[in-house]
Amino acid sequence: MMDFTGKTAVVTGGSRGIGRAVCLELARGGANVALCYAGNETAARETVQAVEALGANALAVRCDVSDGGQVSGLIDAVLHVFQRIDILVNNAGVTRDNLLVRMSEADFDAVIDANLKGTFLCVKAVSRLMLKQRCGRIVNLSSVVGLRGNAGQVNYAASKAGIIGMTKSLARELAGRGITVNAVAPGFIDTDMTAAMPEAARAAVLAAVPMARMGAAEDVARAVAFLASDDAAYITGQVLAVDGGMAM
Ligand code: NAP
Repeated sequence: MMDFTGKTAVVTGGSRGIGRAVCLELARGGANVALCYAGNETAARETVQAVEALGANALAVRCDVSDGGQVSGLIDAVLHVFQRIDILVNNAGVTRDNLLVRMSEADFDAVIDANLKGTFLCVKAVSRLMLKQRCGRIVNLSSVVGLRGNAGQVNYAASKAGIIGMTKSLARELAGRGITVNAVAPGFIDTDMTAAMPEAARAAVLAAVPMARMGAAEDVARAVAFLASDDAAYITGQVLAVDGGMAM
């Protein structure tokens, strides 16, 4: 288990799925965990209770990461309670799948705003503090779809490929100040996001997984925690696929 004693982590989209598993993994290592969520207050409360049951401190803040004002409010709230931020995990994400000919401009914008602009806004808000501290860990959730593309996900693939470019650029900008920036690219993970897929699409994706099974949110969370830990001090600008071999 990794040691995060005395560290504070902000996990966006921590109410459910991979984000919740990341909150719990960091809490197991002793981190204070601040999570944000879009609107599912019940799920956010459940994550807070699960973190506290592990003996760690938790804070949940409702915040739409695509809104700069709300992101500032999130960071202010976290600093008010925990005084510092050592780890940022940009996990909040949405899909609005459709084939290109049927994809509306609104669906394209909504996904880019939440996934790509949201990551930019959170990094910008937190980097100021990390630059002053001269240390920090930023982990961004990309996707196998950002590496390979996927029919029906032009908006989502663009957002997740954009996150990879953003991660590498940020890594170069921030490396000299002791801040690492890496991405994790999950494959086909068992969460609400994939449960919403039609059965035929799920079967087609599964057929492309060499390990022939879905991953668990915890599989991704352990990779995120590693990149957020002291053990990953000399790793930056990397994309770690957690995908049962899908993207190789
Ligand atoms: P999920 O189960 O659908 O959960 C999404 C989380 O993001 C929820 O906590 C949700 O909050 C939050 N959220 C959504 N929009 C937000 C916004 N605008 N502002 C703040 N929070 C927002 O998703 P998941 O499957 O765990 O995926 C987590 C991340 O991994 C995403 O970035 C996703 O693209 C990426 N990923 C997932 C898979 C997969 O197979 N599941 C594969 C590759 C990459 P509420 O609970 O309030 O709605």
